[in-house]
Amino acid sequence: MTGLIFDIRRFSVHDGPGIRTTVFMKGCPLSCWWCHNPESKLPACETFEESRMFDGQEFRQMRTIGKEMPVAEVMEEIEKDLVFMNESGGGVTFSGGEPLFQPQFLEEALRECRRKDIHTTLDTSGYASRETIERILPYTSLFLYDIKHMDDELHKRYMNQSNSPILENLRFISERGGQVIIRFPVVEKINDHRENLDQLSLFLKSLPNPVKEIDLLPYHRIGSGKYAKFGKENLLGSMPNYPKERLQEIGDFFKGQGFAVKTGG
Ligand code: SF4
Repeated sequence: MTGLIFDIRRFSVHDGPGIRTTVFMKGCPLSCWWCHNPESKLPACETFEESRMFDGQEFRQMRTIGKEMPVAEVMEEIEKDLVFMNESGGGVTFSGGEPLFQPQFLEEALRECRRKDIHTTLDTSGYASRETIERILPYTSLFLYDIKHMDDELHKRYMNQSNSPILENLRFISERGGQVIIRFPVVEKINDHRENLDQLSLFLKSLPNPVKEIDLLPYHRIGSGKYAKFGKENLLGSMPNYPKERLQEIGDFFKGQGFAVKTGG
């Protein structure tokens, strides 16, 4: 079994507890306007021409994003840092793109990690079939679960898919006792209005095992250069970084609702 991987980053400290190795899987069924990894969306290898300046001279080269890797090869990369993971309470994080978009590879890799007693985190939009969730749930120690918008029509507009499976899967994971931290990407005038915050808070409180922590991920322009670089359309145009004062207000709102709040991962 192989998976389509576009990056493996070691010594990550923002993708779950402790020191982690993050495996970035290529392909995603959503199409968020603010995606900061536009090169991760297509479930296929892509080749781009890259240009770099050195000493006033331009150098061009072709670069391929995405590589088919067997589970064993990915495990080899993960196990290089076992000592750091064990000492820091870390592990491996599967991210993307959307890792649930490659369910067979993901299940096999998660099982292998569990067999080797490695803590597993899934950084996911939750957009998947119920069957996929049932298969991976027993081997997932922690979900970093994105909720992007509570309004289904706006979810379809900005993510190109309904939020129904995402919300239903979260309820199912909660019923089964899965550990979840919510990640809320905050984007000005798109999902930061009071009605959306109220609905999100109400929904999270209605879960059988209420979520305790929300991580706010404020929009930043860091990924916007990638759109030009990889020849993709940037629908947010020149939107500036999310305002700090407003982020503070949103953090205070969720704290007031009883959640622990962190900014960033
Ligand atoms: S779910 Fe994540 S990877 Fe997929 S389009 Fe949205 S931000 Fe990008």
